[in-house]
Amino acid sequence: MQLRIGNGYDIHRLVPGRPLILGGVRLEHPAGLGLAGHSDADVLVHALMDALLGALSLGDIGTHFPPEDERWRGADSLELLERVMALVAERGWQVLNIDTVVVAERPRLKPHIAAMRAAIASRMGLVPEQVGVKATTNEGLGPTGREEGIACHAVALLHQP
Ligand code: MG
Repeated sequence: MQLRIGNGYDIHRLVPGRPLILGGVRLEHPAGLGLAGHSDADVLVHALMDALLGALSLGDIGTHFPPEDERWRGADSLELLERVMALVAERGWQVLNIDTVVVAERPRLKPHIAAMRAAIASRMGLVPEQVGVKATTNEGLGPTGREEGIACHAVALLHQP
């Protein structure tokens, strides 16, 4: 059995007048902020897609879904994730598990983690036990700590049976 591992990272700015979507779940920020971006700016799913693409040395999401391409304006990142999973499957690879860490001061993510894991798992053809979603604050430090943005780290482990 061949194994491949990939990692991904992304950060998006928190701004007024935008939705806050993480892991395919729409959340409410206590200050009414959301994530800026060309697509729906789901920073969790973006980091995850880069981990999957990285595992197979397929470049990054900027290569596959360039921000200057009008097709991806306001795109549902879960639909982009399905496209990435199709690339993985076409090459004969399967995902063993993925794990993610969202870095955000607010809102509190714990009540929403089960919904995020379920949304991601269903789009990836996985069960929620294969999908790790964790959340941490940055203890008030740096851009995420000052709530200038929300960041996410992700890893993915793939195998070729
Ligand atoms: Mg992004």
